Formats: sequence, structure tokens, C-alpha cells
Amino acid sequence: MINIYTLNKYELITKIKDDGYPKYRGEQLYDWLINKNIKNLEEMSNLPKDFKKYLSENYFFSKLKVLDKISNSDNSTIKILLELQDGNTIEMVIMRYTDKDHSKNRNTLCISSQVGCSVGCPFCATGKAGFIRNLECEEIVEQIQIANEYLKNFDAKVNNVVFMGMGEPLLNRNNVLKAAEIFNKDYNISSRRITISTSGIIEGIKFLADNDLKYVLAISLHGSRNDLRDFLVPINKAKNLEKLIEIVKYYQIKTRKRITFEYIMIDKLNISKRDALELSELLKGIDCHINGIPINTVPGTDFIRPSRNKIYNFKNWCQESGLSFSIREEKGVEIDGACGQLRNKKRGSNESSCSM
Ligand code: SAH
Ligand code: SF4
Repeated sequence: MINIYTLNKYELITKIKDDGYPKYRGEQLYDWLINKNIKNLEEMSNLPKDFKKYLSENYFFSKLKVLDKISNSDNSTIKILLELQDGNTIEMVIMRYTDKDHSKNRNTLCISSQVGCSVGCPFCATGKAGFIRNLECEEIVEQIQIANEYLKNFDAKVNNVVFMGMGEPLLNRNNVLKAAEIFNKDYNISSRRITISTSGIIEGIKFLADNDLKYVLAISLHGSRNDLRDFLVPINKAKNLEKLIEIVKYYQIKTRKRITFEYIMIDKLNISKRDALELSELLKGIDCHINGIPINTVPGTDFIRPSRNKIYNFKNWCQESGLSFSIREEKGVEIDGACGQLRNKKRGSNESSCSM
């Protein structure tokens, strides 16, 4: 039995053809699955009985179960807890940004790439809970299917994907990149609307550069000195800031793409005037934008969200020293938008995790 979400459109149609069915049957099936977002064979009205029998004997369509949903008051953000077949749980978040005339509506899916994470950032619930395993490609792709099912209620589909849920995507590179390709080619999501957020996996960034992969690269920087970043993003101890900046420059020369840096803002830790000046010094010569993310405080940790005043002071210092800096519009705070929180609550702990 093959999980249907493992295959991209080309592989699916080829397999069906190799098994003796005409190419257009594969295209019809694909139309139901991806365009209409229907996975129940009974509802696929234009498929003949023998083909449905072949499908039911050779493929299965689902591995993930929705365990819980929590949305904010206007339903613009919904966080969904999913159970995998082995009983592990992951989270994803859907955020709807509505434009006045609806022409630029954005439906963002914040997707998970691993169960847990081995990087162990101390402010992040996913990191605190440890690493369990990588997600398979189909477990990543199925998240978009479930999101689209929910978005049917609003006559919408996911048109923006950010790998900012649980896990470090570049430590599960093959599955993440295959899923990203499926989002791009089969789900028609432009590569400019697929963001891979990384804590700074050097080999992964090099791979993106060398293979001309045009996704948006976001790097979780959080600190502009080694001592600070060693503490906040422990992977920095092995791969220090100098190596990170070197690979970022290499990436930029190769791809000519602007890079996003995420900078989590934590009271009394990384938002002084000195931090702003060091940040601008570090990023000199790099075409980049910085997203300042006021921390979602995780219960059980000492990290505190700065006051509005302090957040704007830091923003101003960064801008005065020439950086392109914005504060991330915060969706999901109301529902503890940080991925990992719902999962940890279900597991009986009070930790929380990733941003958005
Ligand atoms: N592992 C990858 C992607 C998942 S985390 C990475 O670290 O980039 C996505 C983003 O959420 C990262 O920038 C991360 O630093 C941020 N994040 C994690 N915990 C957070 C919290 N409690 N509050 C705000 N942002 C958080
Ligand atoms: Fe892992 Fe990203 Fe959380 Fe750090 S912030 S522990 S890299 S998921």
C-alpha cells in the first residue's frame, strides 16, 4: 500500500499508467485530490468502479487525525493538533489575512517538519520537549490537505507556506524539499510564497544555494554575538556566527535573493542599543530584512516579552543604523500561536513553543 501523498503529480500519473490505466485516469484522480481536495473515493463521481477498486487496494489516503482545534475570536487563526499513525502529535497553524477587495487574501499555513526538535533553543517549547523523529514527506503534505479542507469553509486555499511549525526543516532536508516541490508544482504555490525557516544549518543553506532552490530563506538569528547566540540557539556553539554569515553571503551571491532574519525579542536579553548596533555591523553588506518577533512567553521559562515601548525602541535603533526592520504582525497570540503549546497542554505539561 502506498500513501498517496508521497507521490508528486508526475509520479502518481506515471504509476497509474504503468499499472495499466489510461493517463487521464491519473489526471482525474489528481484533480479530485489536489484541486477539489476530496480524498473519499465514493465522492469521485467520474471514476469507474474497477479503477476505484484498484485505488483502494493499492493506496491509502490518510495518516493524520485531527485531535483538537482552537481558533481565535474572528476565526482568522486556527491551530490544529494532529495525531500521526504512531501516536505522536504535531501542530500546524492556519492564518487568514483578508485584503479589502480580497484580491490579495493570504492564507498562510505554518507547517511542522519534525516531531520535536534537536536544536534545543531554551525559549521554544518544541525544543524543550526534545527530538522524536523526522516527518515523512506525506505527513508534511497531508498538513496542507487538512488545512485546505478547513479553508473550504471560507472558499479559500493555502497560498503561502512557512516551515515555522515544529522542527528544524533543514535537518529533515529531503522530505521537506520534496514536500516543498509538491506545494510549488502540484499545489501551485509560488516558490516566493514558500519560506524555509532555519536555526542556521550550514550544509542545508549551502544545498539550497547550490541547487538554485528559489524558496524564501529565513534564518533565526536572535543574537549578534557568539556568547548570546550560543545560549539562545545552541547549534551556534558548533557552527558559529562567522560561519553562518559566510554561508549567508555565499547563498546571496549564488541566488541573488534577499534573506529574512528572524530576531526574537526578549526583555533584558537581546534588545539593547548595543545589540542593535552589533546587529547592523554583523549584517553589513547583506541584502536582508529583519523580522522582530516579540517572544511568546513559554510558561516555566524566564524569558519575558518586552514592553511595547522597548520593542519600538529596538526597532528604531535598528532602523537608524540602516537595517530594514519590521515587527512581525502577530497572529495567534490569543491562542498561544507558538507551535508546541497545544501539544504540550495535551501531554499534561505547561510548556509552549514556536512563533507565528
Ligand atoms: N526550527 C526552525 C523553524 C521552526 S521555529 C527555526 O528555528 O527557524 C520558527 C520560528 O519560531 C523561529 O524563528 C523560532 O525562533 C521562533 N520561536 C520559537 N519559539 C518561540 C517563542 N516562544 N516565541 C516567539 N517565537 C518563537
Ligand atoms: Fe528547534 Fe526552531 Fe524551536 Fe529552535 S526554535 S528548538 S530550532 S523548532
